[in-house]
Amino acid sequence: KNVQELERLETVSENPGTGRSRILVFVRLRPLAKKEKEAGSRCCVRILNRRDVYLTEFPHENDYLRLKRLRGRHFTFDASFPDSATQQDVYLTTTAELVEAVLQGRNGSVFCYGATGAGKTYTMLGTVENPGVMVLAIKDLFTKIRQRSSDGNHAVHLSYLEVYNETVRDLLSPGRPLVLREDKQGIVAAGLTQYRAYSTDEVMALLQQGNLNRTTEPTRVNETSSRSHAILQVVVEYRVKDASMNVVNRVGKLSLIDLAGSERALATDQRTLRSLEGANINRSLLALSSCINALVEGKKHIPYRNSKLTQLLKDSLGGACNTVMIANISPSNLSFGETQNTLHWADRAKEIRTKACEVNEELQQVPESETDQAKLLLELQKENR
Ligand code: ADP
Ligand code: MG
Repeated sequence: KNVQELERLETVSENPGTGRSRILVFVRLRPLAKKEKEAGSRCCVRILNRRDVYLTEFPHENDYLRLKRLRGRHFTFDASFPDSATQQDVYLTTTAELVEAVLQGRNGSVFCYGATGAGKTYTMLGTVENPGVMVLAIKDLFTKIRQRSSDGNHAVHLSYLEVYNETVRDLLSPGRPLVLREDKQGIVAAGLTQYRAYSTDEVMALLQQGNLNRTTEPTRVNETSSRSHAILQVVVEYRVKDASMNVVNRVGKLSLIDLAGSERALATDQRTLRSLEGANINRSLLALSSCINALVEGKKHIPYRNSKLTQLLKDSLGGACNTVMIANISPSNLSFGETQNTLHWADRAKEIRTKACEVNEELQQVPESETDQAKLLLELQKENR
């Protein structure tokens, strides 16, 4: 193994809350829809051992040994969810750990990708009866905050934004496009609504309304666009006293991302990638695949600047962040090609190494009076000497 590879291996820690530096990759299979059944479509995906996914066009290929022989059609992930998995199962396995880390002042992000109709929005947003990861994460966050409310003050702020056609829009307060700016926390959308949330009840309605604000494709009047990316940002600010009674401010950010439909837009090799450029496809998704390729290959330059989406995800992909990908797939044999493409892509994403996730902590100097302030200054000066 060459030095670079060894270095990369050494930085990999599997300790979840405190600095795992690998993207975790999950796959979720959705049930065959009634319409698909009626149209005579068959299930072409098998999930075994809660990790292994097999793609097969032949319904008789049910036993393990036969499946094992299928070349290039067998994938293993951190976990693979069969169509019977509940929203709660998916939340607990993929995201619960990140919520805990965010409360400690770390960043986390989860993104769903896959073809249109594969179940991304269902997984992220869900329905009123079966709320998805976004809602369950916020619910869990509030429960955890209540449990530890005695040891500090929390504030939770939500922002919900969309990237469509290289334009960033505020889904909580639709209007003029937002401009991306770089500040000390990274790339931020200037003027984005930061909604202070106090309970879970208000959140589902808020997010559903936000989702209705997603740009609709002119040709698909009743559907939210398959080309729009939706990003929910949950910022948790936590003021605590540390062991020496200093007030510290911890800020953790959780980003939950419902990506645009990946059909045709994700290419695993540079040649396909080039041939896709110029074609009328989603620039942000193309840029995402370029960034993932560059990260997997350990390149020095990662082309985040090529699109709005990759600028917004810079932290999540290459930064100090716990990152989770959920690849959504349809079971239908009619989507075989798309499913295979999604699985190849997910398989590749397993190789991405991120920087160790650190706590964002700042010492807060809250002097009681000016004399205190003067004392504090003196002490700081002493320390610096
Ligand atoms: P996408 O956002 O990837 O385009 P959707 O989440 O809108 O796809 O899912 C397409 C359809 O399939 C929707 O009607 C959705 O309710 C349904 N669906 C997706 N995943 C599941 C699931 N796990 N269980 C039940 N229905 C699902
Ligand atoms: Mg969707």
